Amino acid sequence: MTAEYDYDLFTIGAGSGGVRASRVAAAHGARVAVAEEYRVGGTCVIRGCVPKKMLVYGAHFAEDLEDAKSFGWSIEGKSFDWVKLRDHVQKDVDRLEGLYGETLGNHKVEVIRERAEITGEHEITLASGRKVTAKHILVATGARPHVPDFPGNEHAITSNEAFHLDEVPRRILIAGGGYIANEFAGIFNEFGSKVTIANRSDVILRGYDEALRDRLLQISLIKGIEFCFNTQFEWIEKQEDGTLKVKMTGEDERIYDQVMIATGRVPNTEGLGLETVGVELGENGQIKVDAFSKTNVDHIYAVGDVTDRVQLTPVAIREGQAFADSVFGPGEPYAVDHSCIPSAVFSHPPIASVGMTEGEARNRIGNIRVFQSDFRPMKNVVAGRNERGLYKMITNAQTGQIVGVHMIGPESPEIMQAAAVAVKAGLTKADFDATTAIHPTMAEELVLLR
Ligand code: NDP
Repeated sequence: MTAEYDYDLFTIGAGSGGVRASRVAAAHGARVAVAEEYRVGGTCVIRGCVPKKMLVYGAHFAEDLEDAKSFGWSIEGKSFDWVKLRDHVQKDVDRLEGLYGETLGNHKVEVIRERAEITGEHEITLASGRKVTAKHILVATGARPHVPDFPGNEHAITSNEAFHLDEVPRRILIAGGGYIANEFAGIFNEFGSKVTIANRSDVILRGYDEALRDRLLQISLIKGIEFCFNTQFEWIEKQEDGTLKVKMTGEDERIYDQVMIATGRVPNTEGLGLETVGVELGENGQIKVDAFSKTNVDHIYAVGDVTDRVQLTPVAIREGQAFADSVFGPGEPYAVDHSCIPSAVFSHPPIASVGMTEGEARNRIGNIRVFQSDFRPMKNVVAGRNERGLYKMITNAQTGQIVGVHMIGPESPEIMQAAAVAVKAGLTKADFDATTAIHPTMAEELVLLR
């Protein structure tokens, strides 16, 4: 590679996309450095998917220990220690951060623990003042929580802080009706908080199939989570005793111990010097890229949440891999296929989905068939838990091809990963019908849909 520059690739941001791109580029022989101002691993590892999933596991024991009675177990003196769980989760986050750093080191990627800014066409200036040059620059700076502007918003936390609380709040208001709001509502509710979700619209999880959203709403209500719809913050006031007085439109003043904002995430594009080199941004401040993750500036690329294509870790990883293979690998450049991406919401119970919702399929295809199974998982029956799962399969009525699968119920994300392969491969309902069920499972519902 060229000696004209200090590096062949300089990556800004050591999150999922940046780490993958950096180490793959280095494996292809590139001289790579990655700058990270916070912690190696990015949102997913440090304050997102990974620690969140650990809290989801921790939270579920509240129900499991209760249900265990119906299976003959008596559990006396059970208690929950938030600080113990919190610290244990953080210890594992530290371990994972170390592993990410090791992986970069093993691939001879230089990790620079400083903020970096683009200050010239091929020039990057680090917070320490050191200037370096690179043939290619990759921006992988991710996104951060969006906090609406209203008086007292500084008293609210976001998911960033939720992992570090001193105690489980007795009463928590969560603003937003998306992934983070529903996941943390489930977590805090299981830990004993009185949870209220407040959203600006009258729906939760916009974009997911309506029947599943309704089911989650019903189950959440039964579990004791309160919902306020069509409302927005007017103000938050901190009281002398540390509690928060909250006024939302159309609601009386309320008192909470914590208010958490989960109203979407905005791309981190400020202060990176993007304007210096003329990198074009979109309406939401995201970096505009082509199918190969290239910006309008030939040698500057961007992957992951900062491009606001699909804000999911596995997508950022694929974008980072494709970028590195395409620019530094021996083969032909290739683009990431953003179609038919499966996703999950780790609510209580979780939701998983791939392909078109019933509504989308009706609009796009017209002639569709919908197969549905509304069932009570065996474990719930024995436990006396009146919580039903719902699986939906949407097919093209003419060809039988499956265009969407949607599930809510225990372990649905685990089941969905395999089903998503079939949907991505374009299999038909007849292919599912031809597959023998594994009995007794919840997943068998997928091959028994009538
Ligand atoms: P989401 O996009 O999922 O939901 C945002 C919610 O906030 C919606 O209910 C939306 O309302 C509302 N909202 C949006 N803008 C405003 C605003 N200006 N004022 C008030 N309310 C607003 O965002 P999250 O923050 O929950 O998560 C961010 C992203 O992170 C997700 O989109 C997802 O890609 C990713 N993520 C993925 C997870 C997973 O894969 N399991 C887990 C957590 C996050 P409306 O109802 O009108 O749309």
